[in-house]
Amino acid sequence: MPNTSTIKYTAREEFPDLSNHNNHMAKCLTKDIYKTLRSRQSPNGFNIDNVIQTGVDNPGHPFIMTVGCVAGDEESYETFAELFDPVIEARHNGYKKTAKHKTDLNPEHLMGGDCLDEKYVLSSRVRTGRSIRGLCLPPHCSRAERRKIEEISYKALEKLDGELKGIYYPLNIMSDKDQEQLINDHFLFDKPVSPLLLSAGMARDWPDARGIWHNDKKNFLVWINEEDHLRVISMQNGGKMKEVFTRWCKGLREIEIQMKELGREYMWNEHLGYILTCPSNLGTGVRAGVHLRIPLFSQHPKFDEVLRKLRLQKRGTGGVDTAAEGGIFDISNADRLGFSEVELVQMVVDGVEFMIECEKNLEMGKSIEDDVRLLQQK
Ligand code: ADP
Ligand code: MG
Repeated sequence: MPNTSTIKYTAREEFPDLSNHNNHMAKCLTKDIYKTLRSRQSPNGFNIDNVIQTGVDNPGHPFIMTVGCVAGDEESYETFAELFDPVIEARHNGYKKTAKHKTDLNPEHLMGGDCLDEKYVLSSRVRTGRSIRGLCLPPHCSRAERRKIEEISYKALEKLDGELKGIYYPLNIMSDKDQEQLINDHFLFDKPVSPLLLSAGMARDWPDARGIWHNDKKNFLVWINEEDHLRVISMQNGGKMKEVFTRWCKGLREIEIQMKELGREYMWNEHLGYILTCPSNLGTGVRAGVHLRIPLFSQHPKFDEVLRKLRLQKRGTGGVDTAAEGGIFDISNADRLGFSEVELVQMVVDGVEFMIECEKNLEMGKSIEDDVRLLQQK
Protein backbone atom coordinates (compact mmCIF):
# COMPACT_ATOMS: atom_id res chain seq x y z
CA MET A 1 0.00 0.00 0.00
CA PRO A 2 1.48 3.38 -0.96
CA ASN A 3 1.86 6.19 1.58
CA THR A 4 -0.94 8.74 1.45
CA SER A 5 1.55 11.37 0.29
CA THR A 6 2.43 9.32 -2.79
CA ILE A 7 -1.14 9.80 -3.88
CA LYS A 8 -1.41 13.53 -3.15
CA TYR A 9 2.07 14.86 -3.97
CA THR A 10 4.79 13.99 -6.42
CA ALA A 11 8.21 12.64 -5.45
CA ARG A 12 9.73 15.96 -6.54
CA GLU A 13 7.47 17.85 -4.15
CA GLU A 14 8.32 15.49 -1.29
CA PHE A 15 12.06 15.11 -1.88
CA PRO A 16 14.01 16.36 1.17
CA ASP A 17 16.58 19.12 0.90
CA LEU A 18 19.87 17.25 1.34
CA SER A 19 22.11 19.93 -0.14
CA ASN A 20 24.04 20.55 3.08
CA HIS A 21 24.12 16.99 4.29
CA ASN A 22 27.13 14.85 4.99
CA ASN A 23 25.95 11.32 5.71
CA HIS A 24 25.91 8.17 3.60
CA MET A 25 22.16 8.27 2.97
CA ALA A 26 22.30 11.83 1.63
CA LYS A 27 25.11 10.88 -0.72
CA CYS A 28 23.31 7.80 -2.06
CA LEU A 29 19.68 8.93 -2.25
CA THR A 30 18.94 10.31 -5.70
CA LYS A 31 15.56 11.68 -6.75
CA ASP A 32 15.08 8.62 -8.95
CA ILE A 33 15.71 6.18 -6.13
CA TYR A 34 13.40 8.15 -3.87
CA LYS A 35 10.70 8.09 -6.53
CA THR A 36 11.01 4.33 -6.97
CA LEU A 37 10.94 3.62 -3.24
CA ARG A 38 8.03 5.89 -2.35
CA SER A 39 5.42 3.46 -3.52
CA ARG A 40 6.78 0.64 -1.35
CA GLN A 41 6.29 -0.42 2.21
CA SER A 42 7.88 -3.22 4.15
CA PRO A 43 5.45 -5.98 5.22
CA ASN A 44 5.11 -4.20 8.57
CA GLY A 45 4.39 -0.81 7.03
CA PHE A 46 7.79 0.91 7.20
CA ASN A 47 8.25 3.41 4.36
CA ILE A 48 11.14 5.28 2.74
CA ASP A 49 10.45 8.47 4.70
CA ASN A 50 10.69 6.48 7.94
CA VAL A 51 13.97 5.00 6.70
CA ILE A 52 15.65 8.34 6.00
CA GLN A 53 14.15 10.66 8.64
CA THR A 54 17.15 10.44 10.99
CA GLY A 55 19.54 11.37 8.19
CA VAL A 56 17.34 14.25 7.03
CA ASP A 57 17.13 15.71 10.54
CA ASN A 58 20.84 15.17 11.29
CA PRO A 59 22.84 16.52 8.37
CA GLY A 60 26.14 15.52 9.94
CA HIS A 61 27.76 14.47 13.18
CA PRO A 62 30.63 16.35 14.81
CA PHE A 63 32.80 13.26 15.33
CA ILE A 64 31.82 10.41 13.00
CA MET A 65 30.42 9.96 9.48
CA THR A 66 26.90 8.69 10.15
CA VAL A 67 24.79 6.46 7.97
CA GLY A 68 21.61 8.55 8.03
CA CYS A 69 19.06 5.76 7.66
CA VAL A 70 17.61 2.91 9.69
CA ALA A 71 15.63 -0.29 9.21
CA GLY A 72 12.21 -0.75 10.79
CA ASP A 73 12.10 -4.51 10.38
CA GLU A 74 14.17 -7.36 8.96
CA GLU A 75 12.59 -6.94 5.54
CA SER A 76 13.48 -3.22 5.24
CA TYR A 77 16.90 -4.12 3.87
CA GLU A 78 15.20 -5.97 0.98
CA THR A 79 12.27 -3.64 0.41
CA PHE A 80 14.52 -0.57 0.17
CA ALA A 81 17.57 -2.33 -1.29
CA GLU A 82 18.09 0.41 -3.90
CA LEU A 83 19.06 2.75 -1.07
CA PHE A 84 20.49 0.34 1.51
CA ASP A 85 22.81 -1.49 -0.90
CA PRO A 86 24.86 1.58 -1.89
CA VAL A 87 24.81 2.87 1.71
CA ILE A 88 26.14 -0.49 2.92
CA GLU A 89 28.75 -0.52 0.18
CA ALA A 90 29.90 3.00 1.10
CA ARG A 91 29.90 2.43 4.86
CA HIS A 92 31.47 -1.01 4.76
CA ASN A 93 34.50 -0.50 2.62
CA GLY A 94 33.04 -1.55 -0.74
CA TYR A 95 31.05 -4.53 0.57
CA LYS A 96 29.19 -5.80 -2.50
CA LYS A 97 25.63 -7.00 -2.88
CA THR A 98 26.91 -10.48 -3.69
CA ALA A 99 29.40 -10.70 -0.79
CA LYS A 100 29.00 -13.28 1.96
CA HIS A 101 29.47 -12.45 5.58
CA LYS A 102 31.80 -14.47 7.85
CA THR A 103 31.48 -15.30 11.52
CA ASP A 104 34.19 -16.44 13.93
CA LEU A 105 33.27 -16.52 17.59
CA ASN A 106 36.18 -18.69 18.72
CA PRO A 107 38.35 -16.62 21.10
CA GLU A 108 41.22 -19.11 20.72
CA HIS A 109 41.76 -17.63 17.26
CA LEU A 110 42.66 -14.23 18.72
CA MET A 111 46.41 -13.61 18.89
CA GLY A 112 47.67 -11.61 21.86
CA GLY A 113 45.47 -9.20 23.76
CA ASP A 114 46.09 -11.03 27.05
CA CYS A 115 47.03 -7.79 28.73
CA LEU A 116 47.41 -4.50 26.88
CA ASP A 117 49.60 -2.00 28.76
CA GLU A 118 47.40 -0.75 31.58
CA LYS A 119 49.31 2.48 31.93
CA TYR A 120 47.49 3.47 28.73
CA VAL A 121 44.51 1.13 28.48
CA LEU A 122 41.97 2.03 31.15
CA SER A 123 39.18 -0.36 30.16
CA SER A 124 38.29 -2.93 27.49
CA ARG A 125 34.89 -3.66 26.03
CA VAL A 126 33.24 -5.71 23.27
CA ARG A 127 29.62 -5.30 22.24
CA THR A 128 27.22 -6.39 19.57
CA GLY A 129 23.50 -6.31 18.91
CA ARG A 130 21.01 -9.07 18.21
CA SER A 131 17.45 -8.84 16.85
CA ILE A 132 14.68 -11.35 17.46
CA ARG A 133 13.12 -12.55 14.22
CA GLY A 134 9.45 -11.74 13.70
CA LEU A 135 9.37 -8.54 15.78
CA CYS A 136 9.87 -5.04 14.41
CA LEU A 137 13.07 -3.12 15.15
CA PRO A 138 13.12 -0.17 17.61
CA PRO A 139 12.32 2.57 15.03
CA HIS A 140 9.05 0.83 14.20
CA CYS A 141 8.03 -1.65 16.91
CA SER A 142 4.72 -1.19 18.68
CA ARG A 143 4.47 -1.00 22.48
CA ALA A 144 3.26 -4.58 22.63
CA GLU A 145 6.11 -5.78 20.43
CA ARG A 146 8.63 -3.91 22.55
CA ARG A 147 7.22 -5.52 25.69
CA LYS A 148 7.37 -8.92 23.99
CA ILE A 149 11.05 -8.38 23.19
CA GLU A 150 11.68 -7.48 26.82
CA GLU A 151 9.81 -10.56 28.03
CA ILE A 152 11.60 -12.98 25.70
CA SER A 153 15.00 -11.49 26.49
CA TYR A 154 14.39 -11.54 30.20
CA LYS A 155 13.29 -15.18 30.10
CA ALA A 156 16.39 -16.18 28.16
CA LEU A 157 18.78 -14.20 30.36
CA GLU A 158 17.23 -15.51 33.55
CA LYS A 159 18.52 -18.98 32.66
CA LEU A 160 22.21 -18.01 32.54
CA ASP A 161 24.31 -19.28 35.41
CA GLY A 162 27.85 -19.39 36.80
CA GLU A 163 29.81 -16.19 36.19
CA LEU A 164 27.04 -15.03 33.84
CA LYS A 165 24.22 -15.25 36.36
CA GLY A 166 22.52 -11.90 36.70
CA ILE A 167 19.46 -9.76 37.35
CA TYR A 168 17.25 -7.63 35.10
CA TYR A 169 16.70 -3.99 36.04
CA PRO A 170 13.82 -2.37 34.12
CA LEU A 171 14.31 1.35 33.60
CA ASN A 172 10.80 2.33 34.64
CA ILE A 173 11.30 1.15 38.20
CA MET A 174 14.90 2.26 38.54
CA SER A 175 15.54 5.43 40.57
CA ASP A 176 17.02 8.42 38.72
CA LYS A 177 20.03 8.22 41.00
CA ASP A 178 20.76 4.56 40.17
CA GLN A 179 20.26 5.25 36.49
CA GLU A 180 22.63 8.22 36.58
CA GLN A 181 25.22 6.14 38.42
CA LEU A 182 25.07 3.32 35.84
CA ILE A 183 25.41 5.85 33.00
CA ASN A 184 28.36 7.60 34.65
CA ASP A 185 30.06 4.25 35.23
CA HIS A 186 29.70 3.54 31.47
CA PHE A 187 27.43 0.53 32.03
CA LEU A 188 24.15 1.92 30.76
CA PHE A 189 23.03 3.69 27.61
CA ASP A 190 22.37 7.39 27.87
CA LYS A 191 18.87 8.80 28.22
CA PRO A 192 17.48 9.39 24.71
CA VAL A 193 19.10 12.75 24.11
CA SER A 194 20.90 11.78 20.93
CA PRO A 195 19.12 13.35 17.95
CA LEU A 196 20.13 10.29 15.94
CA LEU A 197 17.94 8.10 18.14
CA LEU A 198 15.16 10.64 18.58
CA SER A 199 14.63 11.28 14.87
CA ALA A 200 14.68 7.58 14.11
CA GLY A 201 11.76 7.05 16.49
CA MET A 202 13.74 4.89 18.88
CA ALA A 203 12.86 6.93 21.97
CA ARG A 204 9.09 6.50 21.61
CA ASP A 205 7.39 5.54 24.88
CA TRP A 206 10.63 5.90 26.83
CA PRO A 207 11.35 4.25 29.27
CA ASP A 208 8.66 1.59 28.70
CA ALA A 209 10.12 -1.91 28.25
CA ARG A 210 13.74 -0.71 28.37
CA GLY A 211 16.22 -2.03 30.83
CA ILE A 212 19.60 -3.44 31.61
CA TRP A 213 20.50 -6.93 32.69
CA HIS A 214 23.88 -7.60 34.25
CA ASN A 215 25.81 -10.13 36.31
CA ASP A 216 27.11 -9.43 39.83
CA LYS A 217 30.50 -8.21 38.66
CA LYS A 218 28.94 -5.95 36.02
CA ASN A 219 31.32 -7.38 33.46
CA PHE A 220 28.63 -9.02 31.32
CA LEU A 221 25.68 -6.78 30.47
CA VAL A 222 22.72 -6.77 28.13
CA TRP A 223 20.78 -3.67 27.14
CA ILE A 224 17.19 -4.28 26.16
CA ASN A 225 15.30 -2.12 23.64
CA GLU A 226 17.74 0.70 23.14
CA GLU A 227 18.92 1.04 19.53
CA ASP A 228 18.62 -2.73 19.03
CA HIS A 229 16.44 -5.41 20.59
CA LEU A 230 19.50 -6.62 22.47
CA ARG A 231 22.96 -5.22 22.97
CA VAL A 232 25.32 -7.77 24.48
CA ILE A 233 28.35 -6.32 26.22
CA SER A 234 31.41 -7.67 27.99
CA MET A 235 33.68 -5.15 29.69
CA GLN A 236 36.09 -4.61 32.53
CA ASN A 237 38.73 -2.19 33.73
CA GLY A 238 42.25 -2.64 32.39
CA GLY A 239 43.68 -4.18 29.25
CA LYS A 240 42.69 -7.85 29.31
CA MET A 241 40.92 -7.80 25.96
CA LYS A 242 41.21 -11.54 25.42
CA GLU A 243 39.44 -12.24 28.71
CA VAL A 244 36.71 -9.75 27.79
CA PHE A 245 36.28 -11.28 24.33
CA THR A 246 36.25 -14.84 25.70
CA ARG A 247 33.47 -14.04 28.18
CA TRP A 248 31.53 -12.23 25.49
CA CYS A 249 31.68 -15.20 23.09
CA LYS A 250 30.55 -17.55 25.84
CA GLY A 251 27.69 -15.27 26.86
CA LEU A 252 26.49 -14.85 23.29
CA ARG A 253 26.54 -18.61 22.77
CA GLU A 254 24.55 -19.28 25.93
CA ILE A 255 21.95 -16.59 25.29
CA GLU A 256 21.37 -18.02 21.82
CA ILE A 257 20.87 -21.50 23.27
CA GLN A 258 18.21 -20.09 25.61
CA MET A 259 16.56 -18.18 22.77
CA LYS A 260 16.27 -21.44 20.84
CA GLU A 261 14.75 -23.12 23.89
CA LEU A 262 12.10 -20.42 23.76
CA GLY A 263 11.49 -21.19 20.08
CA ARG A 264 13.14 -17.96 18.94
CA GLU A 265 15.87 -17.18 16.44
CA TYR A 266 17.85 -14.09 15.51
CA MET A 267 17.50 -12.07 12.33
CA TRP A 268 20.40 -13.25 10.18
CA ASN A 269 21.24 -13.93 6.56
CA GLU A 270 24.32 -15.01 4.62
CA HIS A 271 24.89 -11.64 3.00
CA LEU A 272 24.27 -9.22 5.87
CA GLY A 273 25.11 -11.43 8.84
CA TYR A 274 23.20 -10.31 11.93
CA ILE A 275 20.50 -7.80 11.01
CA LEU A 276 20.46 -4.71 13.21
CA THR A 277 18.68 -1.34 13.21
CA CYS A 278 21.52 0.78 11.86
CA PRO A 279 23.22 -0.34 8.64
CA SER A 280 26.53 0.59 10.24
CA ASN A 281 26.12 -2.33 12.63
CA LEU A 282 25.22 -5.08 10.17
CA GLY A 283 27.34 -8.20 9.99
CA THR A 284 29.10 -8.88 13.23
CA GLY A 285 27.66 -5.84 15.03
CA VAL A 286 30.95 -5.87 16.87
CA ARG A 287 32.43 -2.78 18.38
CA ALA A 288 35.48 -3.78 20.37
CA GLY A 289 37.19 -0.88 22.05
CA VAL A 290 39.36 0.44 24.78
CA HIS A 291 39.50 3.67 26.70
CA LEU A 292 43.01 4.73 25.76
CA ARG A 293 45.14 7.47 27.35
CA ILE A 294 47.22 8.99 24.56
CA PRO A 295 47.58 12.72 25.30
CA LEU A 296 50.64 13.13 23.05
CA PHE A 297 49.82 10.90 20.11
CA SER A 298 46.26 12.23 19.87
CA GLN A 299 47.72 15.73 19.34
CA HIS A 300 50.04 14.51 16.59
CA PRO A 301 49.14 15.58 13.03
CA LYS A 302 49.28 11.92 11.87
CA PHE A 303 46.73 10.69 14.44
CA ASP A 304 43.71 10.59 12.10
CA GLU A 305 45.74 9.14 9.22
CA VAL A 306 46.98 6.33 11.48
CA LEU A 307 43.47 5.61 12.71
CA ARG A 308 42.26 5.30 9.13
CA LYS A 309 45.09 3.00 8.16
CA LEU A 310 44.50 0.80 11.22
CA ARG A 311 40.76 0.77 10.39
CA LEU A 312 39.95 2.20 13.82
CA GLN A 313 37.50 4.86 14.99
CA LYS A 314 37.78 7.41 17.80
CA ARG A 315 35.02 8.59 20.13
CA GLY A 316 34.86 10.46 23.42
CA THR A 317 34.73 8.27 26.51
CA GLY A 318 31.14 9.26 27.32
CA GLY A 319 29.81 7.60 24.17
CA VAL A 320 29.29 8.37 20.52
CA ASP A 321 28.00 11.92 21.07
CA THR A 322 30.79 13.09 23.36
CA ALA A 323 34.13 14.75 22.67
CA ALA A 324 37.32 13.29 24.13
CA GLU A 325 38.71 14.94 27.24
CA GLY A 326 42.16 14.82 28.81
CA GLY A 327 43.70 12.87 25.94
CA ILE A 328 41.55 9.80 26.69
CA PHE A 329 39.73 8.30 23.72
CA ASP A 330 37.39 5.41 23.03
CA ILE A 331 39.30 3.61 20.26
CA SER A 332 37.39 0.84 18.47
CA ASN A 333 37.17 -1.02 15.16
CA ALA A 334 35.54 0.99 12.37
CA ASP A 335 34.24 -2.05 10.43
CA ARG A 336 31.47 -4.48 11.30
CA LEU A 337 30.81 -6.26 8.01
CA GLY A 338 33.13 -8.22 5.74
CA PHE A 339 35.39 -9.24 8.62
CA SER A 340 34.79 -11.87 11.30
CA GLU A 341 34.44 -11.04 15.00
CA VAL A 342 37.94 -12.37 15.69
CA GLU A 343 39.45 -10.32 12.86
CA LEU A 344 37.86 -7.13 14.17
CA VAL A 345 39.03 -7.63 17.75
CA GLN A 346 42.48 -8.47 16.34
CA MET A 347 42.56 -5.10 14.55
CA VAL A 348 41.85 -3.37 17.85
CA VAL A 349 44.50 -5.34 19.76
CA ASP A 350 47.18 -4.76 17.11
CA GLY A 351 46.20 -1.15 16.45
CA VAL A 352 46.12 -0.20 20.11
CA GLU A 353 49.57 -1.76 20.61
CA PHE A 354 50.87 0.33 17.75
CA MET A 355 49.38 3.51 19.20
CA ILE A 356 50.87 2.78 22.62
CA GLU A 357 54.31 2.42 21.00
CA CYS A 358 53.82 5.83 19.36
CA GLU A 359 52.79 7.38 22.66
CA LYS A 360 55.86 5.91 24.40
CA ASN A 361 58.17 7.22 21.70
CA LEU A 362 56.65 10.69 21.95
CA GLU A 363 57.05 10.60 25.75
CA MET A 364 60.77 10.00 25.22
CA GLY A 365 60.92 12.91 22.80
CA LYS A 366 61.44 10.60 19.80
CA SER A 367 59.92 11.08 16.37
CA ILE A 368 57.25 8.62 15.23
CA GLU A 369 57.73 9.36 11.51
CA ASP A 370 59.46 6.00 10.92
CA ASP A 371 56.73 4.02 12.71
CA VAL A 372 54.05 5.77 10.67
CA ARG A 373 55.94 5.27 7.41
CA LEU A 374 56.38 1.55 8.10
CA LEU A 375 52.69 1.27 8.91
CA GLN A 376 51.71 3.00 5.67
CA GLN A 377 53.82 0.52 3.70
CA LYS A 378 52.00 -2.49 5.16
P1 ADP B 1 27.88 1.70 21.66
O1 ADP B 1 28.52 1.69 20.32
O2 ADP B 1 28.16 0.46 22.41
O3 ADP B 1 26.43 2.08 21.65
P2 ADP B 1 28.39 4.33 22.77
O4 ADP B 1 29.46 5.15 22.12
O5 ADP B 1 26.98 4.69 22.53
O6 ADP B 1 28.68 2.81 22.42
O7 ADP B 1 28.68 4.27 24.33
C1 ADP B 1 27.88 3.55 25.20
C2 ADP B 1 28.48 3.53 26.60
O8 ADP B 1 29.54 2.58 26.66
C3 ADP B 1 29.07 4.86 27.05
O9 ADP B 1 28.74 5.08 28.38
C4 ADP B 1 30.55 4.64 26.92
O10 ADP B 1 31.28 5.40 27.85
C5 ADP B 1 30.69 3.17 27.26
N1 ADP B 1 31.90 2.59 26.69
C6 ADP B 1 32.17 2.38 25.39
N2 ADP B 1 33.40 1.83 25.22
C7 ADP B 1 33.93 1.68 26.46
C8 ADP B 1 35.18 1.16 26.97
N3 ADP B 1 36.13 0.66 26.18
N4 ADP B 1 35.34 1.19 28.31
C9 ADP B 1 34.40 1.66 29.14
N5 ADP B 1 33.22 2.14 28.72
C10 ADP B 1 32.97 2.17 27.41
MG1 MG C 1 25.26 3.77 21.20
